[in-house]
Amino acid sequence: MVAVLGAPVEMTAECVKTNLLGLTQAKLDEFFITLGEKRFRTQQIMKWIYHFGVSSIDEMSNVSKVLRERLKSCADIRGPEVVSTDFSGDGTCKWVVRVASGSCVETVYIPDGKRGTLCVSSQAGCVLDCSFCSTGKQGFNSDLTVAEIIGQVWLAAKSFNSVPAKSDRAITNVVMMGMGEPLLNFDNVIDAMNLMMDDFGYGLSKRRVTLSTSGVVPAMRRMIGLTDVSLAVSLHAPNDALRNQLVPLNKKYPLKTLLAAVHDYMSVLPDKRRVVTFEYVLLKGVNDQPEHAMQMIYLLKDVPCKINLIPFNQFFSSGYERPSNNAIRRFQVMLQQKGFNVTVRRTRGGDIDAACGQLVGQVQDRTRRSVRYRDQQQKGSEAELINVINMAS
Ligand code: SAH
Ligand code: SF4
Repeated sequence: MVAVLGAPVEMTAECVKTNLLGLTQAKLDEFFITLGEKRFRTQQIMKWIYHFGVSSIDEMSNVSKVLRERLKSCADIRGPEVVSTDFSGDGTCKWVVRVASGSCVETVYIPDGKRGTLCVSSQAGCVLDCSFCSTGKQGFNSDLTVAEIIGQVWLAAKSFNSVPAKSDRAITNVVMMGMGEPLLNFDNVIDAMNLMMDDFGYGLSKRRVTLSTSGVVPAMRRMIGLTDVSLAVSLHAPNDALRNQLVPLNKKYPLKTLLAAVHDYMSVLPDKRRVVTFEYVLLKGVNDQPEHAMQMIYLLKDVPCKINLIPFNQFFSSGYERPSNNAIRRFQVMLQQKGFNVTVRRTRGGDIDAACGQLVGQVQDRTRRSVRYRDQQQKGSEAELINVINMAS
């Protein structure tokens, strides 16, 4: 029996220490209160973890030795295990990290002038099986914990600080656009994004934290009033028939339902200048034709938005091709001529397989959840489809 911060705690061989990484202010407050400590410890400890990137309680030099010893007996700081780090010729950096389930996920840093964007994963694999996405082809293994999500920011920030030549690198933006569908891991993603925006965490503004979703409508509605991060929606098709093929989730939540949820999320944000971003992967001969641009113009005519065109990034046996530069430009110009703000995402980190949709990690699909999801889609059983989505949410 040892006394931890005044409270006796049974320490056994199996005793699992609390991971301080990933606890929000509220949860860290609870932790310290349970231990009979004052609340101010929360901010003190958070500064050490997120501002200084320490991974050991011993490094917290303004915490008394007695308290450090007590803390060490019941808590620690455990980031995800880095399996490999790759630097691309264009400055992009990719980490492969192993998570508790044994799968590996990927995190990508993309420097661009003064901006440094970190693309963070939320799940090992993805159940939603979009036809053009290599993550979806891996199946699904596990939701990432809060520590595993915020841990990706933590390890990237730490690695830049520890390499003097790269210390000019900073994470100015985080996008939840790595592996997985963030809204199917709702609570953990919300906590992790709160830590990104917390002044004692990474202090990023809500505009600089972006959640990308393929359109999990009930979860989008749960976000309303709960968070005000920037919203990106993976559209990829201007009509339901085509979107059903590319993003099977559309059969459950078609465009009309999706756009209503986007409207409701955006309309409660106090700053009326904020707009949703629609991502649109351009697939040669599939969704890149003038008729598709015309349909987009009609579909989005009343939606304040930005459109981000993503030329398809090839992966083995995808069956799709990237359109020519001319076709991409033609699509962009048609939308621009109708007054839309349209950007084309440059491919970054292609030489290290770090571009959008190329993230594969190593997913051990032990859950069979994605197989059931595909089966139910083929059988067209709506009730079962909802079950599988609900299980994942
Ligand atoms: N699940 C979320 C976030 C992760 S995917 C979502 O779907 O929005 C991040 C973005 O990469 C999405 O817009 C997705 O459609 C896009 N993407 C997936 N596969 C791609 C590929 N092969 N080439 C280009 N973009 C891709
Ligand atoms: Fe999942 Fe997003 Fe890939 Fe679709 S595009 S399979 S939702 S990660």
